[in-house]
Amino acid sequence: MTQNVEQSRVEDVDVAIIGAGPSGSIAASLLHAQGKRVLVLEKQHFPRFSIGESLLPCCMQVIAEANMLDAVNAAGFQYKNGAAFRCRDQYTSFDFNDKFTPGPGTTFQVERAQFDKLLADEATKQGVEIRYGQSVESVNLDSAPELTVQNEAGETYTVNAKFILDASGFGRVLPRLLDLEKPSHLPTRTAVFNHINDNITCPDFDRNKILISVHPDNKDIWYWLIPFSNGRCSVGVVAEPHQLGNLAGNLDDVLLQMISEEPGLKKLLANAELVNDSALLQGYSANVKTLATNKFALLGNAGEFLDPVFSSGVTIAMQSASLAAKALIKQLDGEAIDWQDEYATPLMKGVDTFRTYVEAWYDCRFQDAIFYSDPDLTIKQMICSILAGYAWDQNNPFVSESKRRLNMVVEICRS
Ligand code: FAD
Repeated sequence: MTQNVEQSRVEDVDVAIIGAGPSGSIAASLLHAQGKRVLVLEKQHFPRFSIGESLLPCCMQVIAEANMLDAVNAAGFQYKNGAAFRCRDQYTSFDFNDKFTPGPGTTFQVERAQFDKLLADEATKQGVEIRYGQSVESVNLDSAPELTVQNEAGETYTVNAKFILDASGFGRVLPRLLDLEKPSHLPTRTAVFNHINDNITCPDFDRNKILISVHPDNKDIWYWLIPFSNGRCSVGVVAEPHQLGNLAGNLDDVLLQMISEEPGLKKLLANAELVNDSALLQGYSANVKTLATNKFALLGNAGEFLDPVFSSGVTIAMQSASLAAKALIKQLDGEAIDWQDEYATPLMKGVDTFRTYVEAWYDCRFQDAIFYSDPDLTIKQMICSILAGYAWDQNNPFVSESKRRLNMVVEICRS
């Protein structure tokens, strides 16, 4: 393919942001509000599909910080007030308003095509420049950071920035280009998913909560059901690849077969119709050697991605944007910043809390704790805080000593 190089075209900005998903749009808005010259380079055109549709209340604080709360509240997304879990005939639910940590107790379940476009449009209204159809192809950090960008005509140009924020999600642009990739300790899992016209008639079904169902025979296989406000749901199954049958065949068949194996979901979705072709994401858990230096920071999924079971992805993405923007504003204003102390360590406190719970989900400790028939209500509130996204609240003993506290509860439940 011929590549046109516009060698003369060089642009200078304070911050170049790769990707206009939630972490990119929020970071751009926060930096622009402090007078920084920001340019967002987004490969695709919005609206575009993205997985990750169930938000956590904690992220509403960051949305408010970016001055986008009114727009999100007015958009007509499905209200969400908690999470429900089911395994065979056991059912338990968490009401996010009944939690230990102060802060919002409700949020939304969103089709990300609309949600991400809304955040990006709000950032644009605030004055941020988002350039769509622009793919970041290479980076040079020898002196001041420099990005090579390719537009849809195949032309390339250079963006010089004082700092780069990589918000490229599973694109993982800087981890790839700078050899920062590090394997995740979590096993390779696969998600097969679709949107459905759910046609749910069951009067007990709570559309205000994500429903996580566990496979009756394999407790490490689980399903999400995320209702939207338009009569549709997002439905997906997560398992190790060998547990899902023929992934090279028709993915609709894989998804429908897996749904038929979970009696509760089978009954609930008896009249459901698939909206799209089912899709698959495999091996999405990822990690990096370095999250930030004084020239770049990795936000959201471009840094570490754990696992979808607790819907923590967008919340972590937004927290990372907020933390990075605060550190970066100081650096651009002339302060010396230790990115480990000001960004990586505080961000990882929350990520590590979620990690404790993800690991305990798959080895069934957490499942034993939540399905326990006689839970201590204060402990439930503390765990509820984490499920609502407040995984950074060091006042919560289930955050500050997450492993020890969780293991204590599991021991009591199991005995
Ligand atoms: P993204 O939203 O992925 O945005 C990245 C953007 O960067 C994209 O628009 C992309 O086009 C752009 N880009 C990529 N490469 C380039 C390039 N070279 N140049 C320019 N632009 C580029 N999270 C939740 O909170 N709730 C859930 O219910 C949930 N469910 C999930 C289910 C599954 C199966 C998986 C795998 C993840 C789930 N997640 C969920 C996680 C969630 O999808 C992500 O954490 C979230 O989208 C991360 O946001 P982000 O801003 O980091 O990146």
